[in-house]
Amino acid sequence: MEISKAGEYSYAGMELDRSEGQIIEELKARSRDVIPDPDQWLDEDLERNILVTTLDEVINWGRRSSLWTAICFPACCAFEFIAANGPRFDLARFGMEILRASPRQADLIITAGTLTWKMAPSVRRIYEQMAEPKWVIAMGACGISGGIFRSSYNVVPGYNHIIPVDVYVPGCPPRPEALIYGIQMLQKKIAKRTSFQKG
Ligand code: SF4
Repeated sequence: MEISKAGEYSYAGMELDRSEGQIIEELKARSRDVIPDPDQWLDEDLERNILVTTLDEVINWGRRSSLWTAICFPACCAFEFIAANGPRFDLARFGMEILRASPRQADLIITAGTLTWKMAPSVRRIYEQMAEPKWVIAMGACGISGGIFRSSYNVVPGYNHIIPVDVYVPGCPPRPEALIYGIQMLQKKIAKRTSFQKG
């Protein structure tokens, strides 16, 4: 590149093209990597606030964390259930301290007591009036098999003769710790449910 007497630039041959080409080549050489977003706070904000899970996980978490029990305690196992629901064992930890007098507001029956055939139609009606999904815990020897009254003419030899049972908690009566263990087993069972079957 030369400067004339009049002070004008004059370019020789392909000099201008070569100069521009050199600038572009240098920029290309420096531009192989992507320039990161300077707003790093945006990524951090997303990482802190987005949780990836499935719809089944969320639904099952809600269901197993708020089991509401229908009032259906026909005999002495009921006292251990009452103890479990008191402040020492504190069923409220599982979101299930509320007992429902209406089966339409309950999704769990804990069969705390001996069931006679005279009472059986009422228990079955309570179960049928509960909305799906619903679960049953057979609490105590009487609830599981009729217990010490099994051979009595008037005792149902286990609730599973009239309604389906999900979890069995043995004992006469089972202590609150055993009932809580049974509740945790039911929660694990609920966690495996799927509300969206394929096909
Ligand atoms: S299992 Fe024992 S404590 Fe429970 S209802 Fe039967 S007799 Fe009573």
